[in-house]
Amino acid sequence: TGGARLSRNLHKSKKLENVCYDIRGPVLEEAQRLEEEGFRVTKLNIGNPAPFGFDAPDELVHDVILNLRAAQGYVDSKGIFAARKAVMQHYQARGMLDVQVEDIYIGNGVSELIVMTMQALLNDGDEVLIPAPDYPLWTAAVNLAGGTPVHYRCDEQSDWNPDLKDIRSKITDRTRALVIINPNNPTGAVYPRSVIEELHDIAAEKGLLVLADEIYDKILYDDNEHVSIATYCRDIPCITLNGLSKAYRAAGFRAGWMVLSGRVSMMRDYREGLDILSNMRLCSNAPAQFAIQAALGGYQSINDLILPGGRLREQRDVAWQLISDIPGLTAVKPKGALYLFPKIDTKRFNITDDRQFVYDLLVAKKILLVQGTGFNWPEPDHFRIVFLPDREDLRQAIHEIGDFLSSYRQL
Ligand code: PLP
Repeated sequence: TGGARLSRNLHKSKKLENVCYDIRGPVLEEAQRLEEEGFRVTKLNIGNPAPFGFDAPDELVHDVILNLRAAQGYVDSKGIFAARKAVMQHYQARGMLDVQVEDIYIGNGVSELIVMTMQALLNDGDEVLIPAPDYPLWTAAVNLAGGTPVHYRCDEQSDWNPDLKDIRSKITDRTRALVIINPNNPTGAVYPRSVIEELHDIAAEKGLLVLADEIYDKILYDDNEHVSIATYCRDIPCITLNGLSKAYRAAGFRAGWMVLSGRVSMMRDYREGLDILSNMRLCSNAPAQFAIQAALGGYQSINDLILPGGRLREQRDVAWQLISDIPGLTAVKPKGALYLFPKIDTKRFNITDDRQFVYDLLVAKKILLVQGTGFNWPEPDHFRIVFLPDREDLRQAIHEIGDFLSSYRQL
C-alpha cells in the first residue's frame, strides 16, 4: 500500500489554479532548451538591467561588501533602521511629511511586498482593480490570496492612460483596492498629474486602498514628470512600492520597500496583518538592505542614462523608431520604464494566438519576447520588448523581427 501511495501524482495546490506568471513561462523554457542545444537566444523578455552592461552604482556594491559581517544575523523583520530611515527621509523630502519609520517595510524586492499586501488584505472573493495590461505579478498575487482581480483598461489611443470611466464602472461592494503602476510596465506610460488627481478622487469616493507600484519612477524620458499618487492621498490609505531593481540596476540584490501613508489610522488592523507576514519571513535579505541608504542618498546615476545622449534614452528612441518602421506594427512611444508594447495588425498576419506568435519567432529567429496576453491584455494583438540591449543588438534583433513578420501568417 505504501508503494501505491508513492506512485500517486503529487498535485499542486488548488490555490495556484489561476496563478500565472508568463514572463517566466513555457516559452522561456523553450528558450532555455534552445540554449542547451547551443543556440544563442536574444532575450528581450525580462527587465533585468545588469546583464546588458548596466552596472549598479559602485557605492551600493561597496556598502554591501563593507557591511557583510554586520549582516550575518537576522535583522528587524521590517528592515534595518538605516534603510528605513533613508526611505522615510526620501519620501518626506517629496512632500509626504507624515511618513514615519514604522510606516516602512523592507522586502526581498517589490515582488515579495506585492504578495504580502494582498495576503494581508484579501478574503476570498474580495476584488482588486488592476490595470490591463499589467505587470502580471499583481494579478497572480491577488489570485494567490483568494481574491478576484478585476482589470480596468488602459487606453492605447490616449497614451495608455487608465480609462477612468472603465474603473468607475467596475467598482462593486467587494472592491478593496486600486492598483496603479506608474510609470507603467509594459506600456511605458507615465500618468499626467490630472489623471493622478482623478485616480485619487475615485479611490477617495469609494474608500479604496491605493497601491502604487512606482519602481520606474526615476526612469523617465523627454522631461516627463512623475507624480506620486501618495502626495494626494491624505484622506485615504495608500501604499507606495519601490526598490533597487531598476533605477539602481541591482535586481539580484532583492531589495525593495513599501511605505504606508495617507490615512494610516484606517490601516491599524491591516498593519497587524502586514506585521504577521513580515515576522513570518523573519526578515528580508540583510546584506542588500545596506545598499538602500547609499542608493537613495547618493549620486543618481540613472539620470546619465535617461537624459539626451544617455544610453537608455538612445535605446528607447532606436527601438521605438525601428519597431514603428515595421509594416504591421505600431507603438506608443514610451515616456518611462524599459519597455515597448507594440500593437500587431493581427489581420495582416492572421494572428489569433499571441503565445504561438512569440513561440514561432523564438524558434525561427532565436529572439525571445513576451506575448501581450501574458500581461493580462485581453486580445492577442500585442507583445512586450525590452530595450536594454545596446543599439547594435537592438537594431539586429528588431531587423530580424521585421524579417520574420514579412513572411509570417499564423495557421
Ligand atoms: N513592479 C513592476 C512594475 C515591475 O516591472 C517589476 C519587475 O519587473 C517589479 C515590480 C518587481 O521588482 P523587484 O525586483 O523589486 O521584485
